[in-house]
Amino acid sequence: MNDLQPITLPGLDPRRPLVIAGPCSAETEEQVLDTARALAAEGIRIYRAGLWKPRTKPGGFEGVGAEGIPWLQRVKRETGMYTATEVATRDHVETALKGGVDVLWIGARTAANPFAMQEIANALRGHDVPVLVKNPVSPDLELWIGAIERIHNAGIRRLAAIHRGFTSIDKSIYRNHPMWAIPIELHRRLPELPIFCDPSHIGGKRELIAPLSQHAMDLGFDGLIIEAHCSPDSAWSDKAQQVTPDALGYILRNLVIRDQTVTTESLTELRAQIDKLDDQLLELLTRRMRISRDIGQYKKEHSMPILQAQRYEELLERRAKQAVELGMDREFMRTVLQAIHEESVRQQMEILG
Ligand code: PEP
Ligand code: MN
Repeated sequence: MNDLQPITLPGLDPRRPLVIAGPCSAETEEQVLDTARALAAEGIRIYRAGLWKPRTKPGGFEGVGAEGIPWLQRVKRETGMYTATEVATRDHVETALKGGVDVLWIGARTAANPFAMQEIANALRGHDVPVLVKNPVSPDLELWIGAIERIHNAGIRRLAAIHRGFTSIDKSIYRNHPMWAIPIELHRRLPELPIFCDPSHIGGKRELIAPLSQHAMDLGFDGLIIEAHCSPDSAWSDKAQQVTPDALGYILRNLVIRDQTVTTESLTELRAQIDKLDDQLLELLTRRMRISRDIGQYKKEHSMPILQAQRYEELLERRAKQAVELGMDREFMRTVLQAIHEESVRQQMEILG
């Protein structure tokens, strides 16, 4: 995907983060306009509002649909902001584009469905509009990349990803677990693709928006999409995670954006040291694996089983404790040792043949 273009629109500041903000849902013309005016006063240039809302259960507020298009047109006329909305079907794409919506995004439930993604891609063919693809609800990077590829194959070049967290059975403070390793891996696979963070849907509560946004900026994310509402506590959807335009302005002003282009000499020197240590790590791992295979050979000759659970658990525990004493994280050390052990077992199984 080296033919991608940045998500630009005339007059937008190219510095990161590019911020998209607005209510989860367009509710009434008054709410849409009040929120938009306040956000424009905070310097926001792209206004989001969901017209079609994918709700987990029937009976909830499912969005005002096409009725909200003239409201977004008024936002553009009266504030000069660009507008963005979520599309999930061919009909949504056609209605939004005909209605002059400037930026489209695809929601997490839709991104998980290749048939829906293909239908949207087909409807986008021949249009030059920025499209943002949220991660699918499940932590499945290939499915996310597949969804992005379908839009790219339709000729869309102003394309970006939105990281909004993943459904997880693990209890946590998040509504959707961030699993930062997944967007980081997406960036490794598709380095030209801009990535936005959606701290509202990751956190699920307004207190988490600032720290999540800062985390995303520290990781080098390109943009943020944040839910803001003129009266968050009376919002018709996602009320716990929406902030007032005022609060959003405060959060954005306090973000620390570290410049990513300056490479100082001392950084080069530190990176060289890391490279050297990585060489040594690899060398040590290779030696460890070789000995592990020798042990495998010994076990084979003496008809011993490969897995010796008690020794393994003792080793894990001892090293985890040692790691903590050395100032490292206990869980990190367990994860590393488990990976090494898994590979040792695999190698010994090969010897057993
Ligand atoms: C939204 O942006 O309001 C939304 C429905 O998000 P998601 O698809 O991430 O759940
Ligand atoms: Mn929402």
